[in-house]
Amino acid sequence: MDKFNIPEHVYDVIIIGGGPAGLTAGLYVSRAGLRGLCIEGESSISQITVTDLIENYPGIPEGINGFELIERFKKQALQFGLEMMSSDVTSVKQTKWDDIQGWKVTAGDRAYDALAVICATGAYWRKLGVPGEDAYTGKGVSYCATCDGPIFRNREVVVVGGGDTAVQEAIFLTNFTRKVTIVHRRDRLRATKILQKRAFANSKIDFAWNSVVEEISGKETVEKVKIKNVKSPGVTGEIPAAGIFIFTGLTPKTDIIRGVADLDQGGYIIVDANMHTSAKGIFAAGDCIKKRLRQVVTACGDGATAAFSAQLYIEELKGESY
Ligand SMILES: Cc1cc2nc3c(=O)[nH]c(=O)nc-3n(C[C@H](O)[C@H](O)[C@H](O)COP(=O)(O)OP(=O)(O)OC[C@H]3O[C@@H](n4cnc5c(N)ncnc54)[C@H](O)[C@@H]3O)c2cc1C
Repeated sequence: MDKFNIPEHVYDVIIIGGGPAGLTAGLYVSRAGLRGLCIEGESSISQITVTDLIENYPGIPEGINGFELIERFKKQALQFGLEMMSSDVTSVKQTKWDDIQGWKVTAGDRAYDALAVICATGAYWRKLGVPGEDAYTGKGVSYCATCDGPIFRNREVVVVGGGDTAVQEAIFLTNFTRKVTIVHRRDRLRATKILQKRAFANSKIDFAWNSVVEEISGKETVEKVKIKNVKSPGVTGEIPAAGIFIFTGLTPKTDIIRGVADLDQGGYIIVDANMHTSAKGIFAAGDCIKKRLRQVVTACGDGATAAFSAQLYIEELKGESY
């Protein structure tokens, strides 16, 4: 027991997730002199590690490979004393020592206790599950127009989806590309009216209605996208394209926090501006929270804020607040 009657084995903060949000939180937690454990998933990895070249992270004008960026984040956090392990967290439950409230985090067959938890478990873009999708990911198949759009300057691309993200990103892509074809399984868009209006008025945007992607093919990189009409069986077509952007839905990885902290309808964790969730002592950061822009730079900002809020929370718990 320490002087606050907190057992020795209790971490100050457990961070769930080893992506940009989690590792930045880990950096700030350890530099604040707190005992932190970062549990990065064993069966999943940070989304950014699948990206070959990140060109929009400030301070690295030459760009950087996603895997290397994560390794750098890790090295920096570890050098200030963050503990790290790989395991899949399966639950987060409330616990108590005397009158001090904490959290029990179960990962694999072990449980770890902490005064505060930062959930930074990210999200993933739903895949189409068609031939060529995995093989050409990073070679023309993308789930992020902000990240990969400029690569397709003066080329033709396909956007899959009919919601806000798909239409917004298609409009954004016309800043670089020669032509964008939106492939949508219905005969009208789901996106908000203003976006629809802009898309219909954009001469670079074409539509393949009532259509789904059947196959993505090419040689070294994507060259064409095969589509199938869902209303007229047997009717197929081919769109020559150097890239295909898939926006058929982002899914947050928040099952472990469901029922513990409030989620929105899409399953994203609801936080305030300081990354507090509805559960006392639980903070969240990165792609798993309800927010507008999901990028490395915003994930890092969220992680730093969550760590600082956790620090203030712990100081208050220990009666050490400044
Ligand atoms: C193809 C692609 C290209 C992209 N390109 C760019 C780009 O160029 N620039 C840019 O800024 N952004 C880019 N992004 C977006 C960027 O990857 C994300 O915004 C960023 O990774 C979010 O960071 P995060 O830490 O919130 O989540 P992630 O990086 O996804 O990390 C989540 C972490 O949580 C862990 N985890 C999940 N569940 C559990 C669990 N149950 N137990 C333990 N650990 C768990 C995972 O293993 C992982 O370590 C791209 C995304 C994709 C998909």
